[in-house]
Amino acid sequence: MIKVCSRCVMDSSIKDLTFSRNGYCSYCQDFFNRYSFQENKNIEEIKLEKLNKFLKEAKAIGKGKKYDCIVGISGGVDSAWTLVEVVKKGLRPLAVHMDNGWNSELAQSNISNIVSKLGVDLYTHVIEWNEYKNLMESFFKSNVVDIEILYDNAFLALLYQQAHKYGLRHLVAGTNSSTEGMRMPKDWNWFKLDKTNIKDIASKNNVRIKTMPIIGVKFWFYCEYIKRIRWISFPEFFSYKKDEATKMLIKEYSYKPYPYKHYESIFTRFYQGYILPNKFNIDKRKLHLSNLVVTSQMNRKDALKELEGIPYNSEKELNEDLEYFLKKMNWSQKDLEVYINKPRSEHFHYKSEKWLFEFLNTKIKNLIPNKLKSFLRNSYTIR
Ligand SMILES: [Zn+2]
Repeated sequence: MIKVCSRCVMDSSIKDLTFSRNGYCSYCQDFFNRYSFQENKNIEEIKLEKLNKFLKEAKAIGKGKKYDCIVGISGGVDSAWTLVEVVKKGLRPLAVHMDNGWNSELAQSNISNIVSKLGVDLYTHVIEWNEYKNLMESFFKSNVVDIEILYDNAFLALLYQQAHKYGLRHLVAGTNSSTEGMRMPKDWNWFKLDKTNIKDIASKNNVRIKTMPIIGVKFWFYCEYIKRIRWISFPEFFSYKKDEATKMLIKEYSYKPYPYKHYESIFTRFYQGYILPNKFNIDKRKLHLSNLVVTSQMNRKDALKELEGIPYNSEKELNEDLEYFLKKMNWSQKDLEVYINKPRSEHFHYKSEKWLFEFLNTKIKNLIPNKLKSFLRNSYTIR
């Protein structure tokens, strides 16, 4: 029997989840422990102070340069809202986007609408499709859970490279506790800066990385501690509410919303809506919806109701994406079935540099201020 948390919608199908005596799960409890400072009476003042400090710093660094900061943009609500607000606050950002061949037309038109209306420069890096396809194939063959590490790592690499190139120190992102503050269960994804892991999985399947941007722990530490490039979760400076952000974008930028979080990429949609639930027994909606519930943006009843349906807008859309996936990957229906039925394998069966991050992190931990520690914990989960 699956037991559901009495405060959020996480449940006992999640491996390391435990319940307290009152039926609250360890995931929402952890969220409240970590974000209890939000209840501080002066929180608005503190946030405003931090925002002004950031704006001042970014403007000082941008002086005499073409840009003040980098804004990573996926096409989703959080990053789109961030870009708009950064410009409204008087910064001159370079918007950076990565195209791995799976972007939905909707995401592309959302991005181009916003960028052209704001008049900001957009740098789009298009990954060579054959190389990316081969990398994906190697991940499918290895049966590991985090196929999206390919996109996430490359996007992180791209953002740090661009900041480095223009001598900027702020990577501004739409990451925030309002929609993603609850921790991802450990076996749902993998450490995103694991260049060694990506390369090993690829090479076991005779695939080489030639042009795709990739970032490992060493370059990240160099950017973080020598170049002092900072990850800024911009919505954290505000009382960010996703539905209000969406309304503003629709009204002012003819934005067209997606049914669920991160559905701006067709592969992400198919991965979260089909591959994860069917092959790995993982339903990411539980986490996203729980986040909305614990931050009072949705009531628990509505969240439970939403979970009753399939993780797709409709069967029709699921079938369309399935067809698209098969065609793009050159797979037959049978290939997909075989893949879905193969047992899961683990990232830690391959070479990894996660230990290096943990080692450096503990070594440096005593030298860094507390505020930065929480950043370090969250910095490598960008999606
Ligand atoms: Zn809970």
